[in-house]
Amino acid sequence: MTEAVFSWGWRGMILVGVLSAVLLWFVPAPYGRHRRAGNRFAIPARLGWFLMELVSPVCFLLFFLPGASRPVLPALWLLHYVYRACIYPLLKPAGSRPMPVVILFSAVVFNFANGALNGWAAGSDYFPTPAPIFVVTGISLFLLGGSIHIRADSILRRLRSPGDTGYKMPRGGLYRWVSCPNYFGEILQWTGYALVASNPAAWAFAFFTLANLAPRARSHHRWYQREFSDYPSRRKALFPFVF
Ligand code: NDP
Repeated sequence: MTEAVFSWGWRGMILVGVLSAVLLWFVPAPYGRHRRAGNRFAIPARLGWFLMELVSPVCFLLFFLPGASRPVLPALWLLHYVYRACIYPLLKPAGSRPMPVVILFSAVVFNFANGALNGWAAGSDYFPTPAPIFVVTGISLFLLGGSIHIRADSILRRLRSPGDTGYKMPRGGLYRWVSCPNYFGEILQWTGYALVASNPAAWAFAFFTLANLAPRARSHHRWYQREFSDYPSRRKALFPFVF
């Protein structure tokens, strides 16, 4: 990859983030509880998550290896994607709604670009290593975010008995404060990664994650409020006490 391609790439990712946030604010991404009835082309959720998330670490490593200067970055990247591409789909309940092909396709395209840009940036000597305080804070935030979304995922999983496809009110952990702690943890995680990586591709991904998940958290939150008349009023959508 050349510096010009990289420079266009991370700017493009921010633009896509802004456009996605505006669109998703009004029209929720059509998967899970927001899947629309006419959406006929879909594949099993477990296979979809595996395929689309596998693209990211593969592209990261392909573009990282030529430079290979900072091993902490691929270690964090792989830590997340081993969970997201392998463990998460395996643990996912069989009753999860199928994944529309349009979601699979758009995620594969995004993960290809994101993995390549971040892999190239992580392997390049072009970006300065941040001060140790940023590295330590970033790794801590990454691990904290990871543990929050893994715990939130597991609370959601336990809401369904085998064969059940309905939605229940989640309780416990950070669900006391927000409707989507899984999204909150994911945002913390990629903000932490960006602090450690200290390059524009990592910040663009952290921004994209926020731009993608904040509107979805709002849609989930409103959906819970509509479905459950006793939904806790102090619970926010994404950030405790704030939003
Ligand atoms: P959701 O919270 O919508 O769903 C997660 C799983 O839990 C699904 O299997 C869902 O079933 C099930 N579930 C959700 N709510 C309930 C409930 N109330 N009762 C019973 N089961 C429930 O998360 P997403 O699928 O949107 O995302 C999954 C993970 O991927 C998250 O951790 C998220 O952070 C991450 N992600 C990251 C993105 C990024 O930009 N970095 C983008 C999108 C996701 P069903 O499928 O049937 O709805």
